[in-house]
Amino acid sequence: MRVLVVEDEETLREQLAERLRAAGYAVDCAANGQDGEHIGLEYPIDAAIVDLGLPDKSGSSVIAAWRAGQKAFPVLILTARGRWEDKVAGLEIGADDYLVKPFHSEELLARLRALLRRAAGFSQSRIECGPLLLELGAKRVSVGGRELELTALEYKVLEYLMLHAGNVLSKSDLTEHIYEDDSERDSNVLEVIIGRLRRKLDPDRELNPIETIRGRGYRLRLARTSEEG
Ligand code: CA
Repeated sequence: MRVLVVEDEETLREQLAERLRAAGYAVDCAANGQDGEHIGLEYPIDAAIVDLGLPDKSGSSVIAAWRAGQKAFPVLILTARGRWEDKVAGLEIGADDYLVKPFHSEELLARLRALLRRAAGFSQSRIECGPLLLELGAKRVSVGGRELELTALEYKVLEYLMLHAGNVLSKSDLTEHIYEDDSERDSNVLEVIIGRLRRKLDPDRELNPIETIRGRGYRLRLARTSEEG
């Protein structure tokens, strides 16, 4: 999952980025509204965290520009204590939730997870696809009750496949949601990760959970069984 942080206070921005990366997200950062607006419009962002008090333009106008550009990813706004007018303006313009500074990073992560789940149409923190069970909070995966040892990259790829179970995901779509940096993107790496996931998920080759769709990408073949509104 790829998260954009728009925050002009350098210390807070870097702390947030570090905390989010440690939690397994790919992170893009912007120090002002203009850059934030551009990244949100041009890159495949899954969620954004936006400080409303930015030096060049308001966070609300950044969100308004995204919504005008048909970008529907969830947005969590950060406000200074006492600035309730900003918060209302931000929510009216299309933000999904807010946090008042200062906040605990655990609170931010919990809100973010909730927004991402809601955006993906889940009310639960677990996704089941046939015998596969993925617990978003604990980042745990099991197959038929057998817990798997996955690397961070393997987990990210599987989580994205399971969130979009049944849909064909192109290699570039997958890599863009997993890596924040262009230089790291390499479809050979993705192929290796998919190969390892297949062996771990399906050591006896009975399940064939991840299909290769020739010329198009990959698809998790197992349907979601835990979908709730
Ligand atoms: Ca600020």
